[in-house]
Amino acid sequence: MTARILVVDDVPANVKLLQARLAAEYFDVLTAGSGLEALETCENSKVDVVLLDVMMPDMDGFEVCRRLKGDPATSHIPVVMVTALDQASDRIRGLEAGADDFLTKPVNDLQLITRVKSLVRLKMLTDELRLRAATTRNIGIEEMLARGAGDYSERARVLVVDERAPSAQRIARLLEPFAAVDVEADPQIALFEAAEKPYECVVIATGFSDYDPLRLCSQLRSIDRTRFLPIILVAGEEEEELIVRGLDLGVNDYVTRPIDAQELGARLRTQVKRKRYNDHLRASVTQTIEMAVTDPLTGLHNRRYLDSHLETLFDRALARRRPLSLMITDIDRFKSINDSWGHDGGDQVLKEFAARLRRNVRGIDLACRFGGEEFVVVMPDTDGQIAERVAERIRAEIAGRPFPVGRDGKSIEVTVSVGVAAMLPAHDRVADLLKRADTALYEAKSAGRNRVVAKAA
Ligand code: GH3
Ligand code: MG
Ligand code: MG
Repeated sequence: MTARILVVDDVPANVKLLQARLAAEYFDVLTAGSGLEALETCENSKVDVVLLDVMMPDMDGFEVCRRLKGDPATSHIPVVMVTALDQASDRIRGLEAGADDFLTKPVNDLQLITRVKSLVRLKMLTDELRLRAATTRNIGIEEMLARGAGDYSERARVLVVDERAPSAQRIARLLEPFAAVDVEADPQIALFEAAEKPYECVVIATGFSDYDPLRLCSQLRSIDRTRFLPIILVAGEEEEELIVRGLDLGVNDYVTRPIDAQELGARLRTQVKRKRYNDHLRASVTQTIEMAVTDPLTGLHNRRYLDSHLETLFDRALARRRPLSLMITDIDRFKSINDSWGHDGGDQVLKEFAARLRRNVRGIDLACRFGGEEFVVVMPDTDGQIAERVAERIRAEIAGRPFPVGRDGKSIEVTVSVGVAAMLPAHDRVADLLKRADTALYEAKSAGRNRVVAKAA
């Protein structure tokens, strides 16, 4: 994992020290001697994490952080405040300024490296999502990106996992002002709850009598539903080794006992804001991808999706030595439907056709609008004979009941011709399969329409 770290400090000796430690871990290190220089560097070169000294002349670290977080171009860059004072108030000021983490001088090597690594990991995930979102040039996404690093207008739902009731109650009480809190003593039940309910953060306290809390952390990371759910660990000051292992497993943050209420609250807010931001990005990307592969008129997949997916289905069938068949359907004399009923009438027929098609294929079959009034159905695990029967069922389903058109309850007869082809494992490619189905369709048309022709080879 190589990443670019910007070290900001007005004292050259401090810069050198951090630079050397980070370089030893193969990070690419940039440096800045003042707040303004830091802002400029962040704007001009790709920075993955900023290590920011608090006490600097002219512009202090809090102000630099506020500006970085306030600018849409830099708001997503994680900032670690490096403070000389081991004072909770300083940490809280930093977190309120939008800092993602902090370290106290003298900087502990292990903490420095694990914190930076965990922020780099997160940054890469966000970058990936931002990139995909940006390439879609979706207006909603741009607006959201411009808003910055997520919001906390709504209270978060938090699950506290702690076996010791008094400790659990104390944590719950500390979180009450910021969040709606549930408490669970049993880690296995907690895992289920976290997967089932819309929690936005899990707080796990160490100190189980007979259970390793890191097991729950790794289980949460391995289940799809909870993979991106932030985890905050509550541990003893002396449990450094466990904390480091936790951060490596994907724990997002930690606080040590005795817990400072404001610190816990600020860390919770940071995690929840970031989760909301990433969730939103992920949802927008998913939606954009869906739009790109869906035919808006019928809701079926479009040709682009077929092109990219058919190859996969084909190779999978080959590898598993399973059959695969495909049909191309083409509505008969569709032009005349358009001519008599207008384009809207034609569209109505296309929608109804797609609905009947969908009802008559299995869930694992891939039904697509190939273009115009042509549709393709790919049928995994289906040999040519069965595919022919399915095609015949669809043909009958279309011809059997008239299609409604226009607005006054009128309806018309519609028929369809279908070409069917099955995969030949020896030498077939996707293009050959499509070609055979197309030839079969052509024969069905020539032979008088409203019929199925299957090509075995
Ligand atoms: P046949 O297939 O039986 O040989 O005759 P056809 O009239 O169906 O053949 P052709 O493929 O020549 O005509 C297809 C028509 O489908 C032409 C085009 O105007 C129309 N069409 C294509 N896409 C759409 C659409 O999205 N909506 C509507 N209403 N019509 C469409
Ligand atoms: Mg056609
Ligand atoms: Mg046609």
